[in-house]
Amino acid sequence: MASLNLRTVEKSFGDVKVIKGVDLDIVDGEFVVFVGPSGCGKSTLLRMIAGLEEVTGGDISIGDQVVNEIAPSKRGVAMVFQSYALYPHMTVAQNMGFGLKQIKTPKDEIDSKVQAAAKILQLEEYLDRRPKNLSGGQRQRVAIGRAIVRDPEVFLFDEPLSNLDAALRVQTRMEIAKLHQDLGSTMIYVTHDQVEAMTLADKIVVLRAGVIEQVGSPQELYETPQNTFVAQFIGSPKMNFFTSADVANVPSGEILGVRPEHLELVSEGGRFQGTVDFVEYLGEIKLAHCRQASGATFTAKVAPEHDLKAGQQVGFNAPDAVFHRFDQASEKRLG
Ligand code: ADP
Ligand code: MG
Repeated sequence: MASLNLRTVEKSFGDVKVIKGVDLDIVDGEFVVFVGPSGCGKSTLLRMIAGLEEVTGGDISIGDQVVNEIAPSKRGVAMVFQSYALYPHMTVAQNMGFGLKQIKTPKDEIDSKVQAAAKILQLEEYLDRRPKNLSGGQRQRVAIGRAIVRDPEVFLFDEPLSNLDAALRVQTRMEIAKLHQDLGSTMIYVTHDQVEAMTLADKIVVLRAGVIEQVGSPQELYETPQNTFVAQFIGSPKMNFFTSADVANVPSGEILGVRPEHLELVSEGGRFQGTVDFVEYLGEIKLAHCRQASGATFTAKVAPEHDLKAGQQVGFNAPDAVFHRFDQASEKRLG
């Protein structure tokens, strides 16, 4: 296990700077998730930590050692990719043990490590199969097993669930959380999915265009997003924004943020008024997508027994305690 520190880390591809001075401290045993929209630099940052991309500027340290010039295999990291990257002609056991075989680990030791990893991942009965005879979820578990047998200081995951269907994604997500609980290793996990980030992370790093927008626990990001980008990236459906053009008593130059789950439907009046555009029924709740007189839209989560129809006039209130205020010009949190 190891801590990890990034100091003003930069990366350019030719003239294009894609990582623009990232500072980050990761403690030993922490589960850290890099989240952000596609193209913001998550994979690049992870690959720099793995040693698969050169660092253009700044320092990356693992434990107490700056690793900028250290070969990937000597960094004590193991990476799991979205594409699994298994060898089709090898069995599950051979795939998992391949890295160890390459560094001339004795066969007995490889066997016992592969067995131990297979046990953790419930792959024991599949050890003699080839990847093509496995489901997507099993293949990804083999890829994770290949990382486990190397007993790394730091596990790196790059969107490992993206190729799985929805049910398997949820299951494998829980398996990864459990793996972290059992091994206690430092893990860095990249995803564009804020739900994965919220459910897995001790600490979330929100990236946008090569810059860290905020670092914090899932609860910190949900309760006190430091800017409008984080406010709308974390939480689903995203936070509603209102300005003085939409709603009374919003100072000009400010944005009032209210999450859909904090809007309460009222039978008369209400500070947030609109016409129902359409309703999505999700079983436990309904999402009412509404349009205000100003033309601005907002979404409210309502109890499913409310029989809302498109075209209907509706009003909502919310207690002051759930309001978020942002400066319109700087997009930063106020107060
Ligand atoms: P993410 O993983 O967040 O989707 P990436 O780290 O893959 O984003 O990419 C960040 C940016 O760097 C993108 O604009 C991408 O096009 C660019 N990029 C990534 N790899 C290369 C490369 N090898 N050469 C040139 N540009 C690259
Ligand atoms: Mg990526």
